[in-house]
Amino acid sequence: MQGDCSGCAQMPVIALIENASKRHIAPAIPQTLLLSLCCLLLLIIILLVIWVIYLHRVYREPTEAEKSRAFHDQFDQFLSKHGVWTHKTKSGYFCPSCKARYFESQLVLHGSTAYCPINECHFGTSNPDHIAPPRPPKVLI
Ligand SMILES: [Zn+2]
Repeated sequence: MQGDCSGCAQMPVIALIENASKRHIAPAIPQTLLLSLCCLLLLIIILLVIWVIYLHRVYREPTEAEKSRAFHDQFDQFLSKHGVWTHKTKSGYFCPSCKARYFESQLVLHGSTAYCPINECHFGTSNPDHIAPPRPPKVLI
C-alpha cells in the first residue's frame, strides 16, 4: 500500500490541492490574458467606485443652508412700497412675516387691503393691485 504513494503520507492535503491547481490551471491561462483580465477587473472596480460616489452625492440629504436657499429662491422680488413678496411661478402676493418663518402664505386681496390668512400672523397692507377710483369733481355752488 505504501509503495503506490510514497510521498503522499508526508504532504498535507492542502499542499496537494495547491500543487494540483498550479500544475493544471495556471499554465492553461497565458500571461497576456491574465494581465488583460486584471486590467479589466481594475477598470470595473474604478467604475464601481465612481458610481458609488455619484449615487452618494445624488441621494444625500440636503443641508439646512441648502433647504433655506431653495425656499427663499422661489420668491421673485420684494415690493417695498407694500411690503410683500412676489413668487417666481405663482401669481399673487406673499406674506413677508410668514416667509421669514419658512412658510409660504399667499395674501388675500380684499378691496384696497391685502391680509395674511394665517391666524397667528396678523399681517396686513394695502392692496398692490388696487387702483383708487377717480375723485368726483368738486361742484361749486
Ligand atoms: Zn403671514
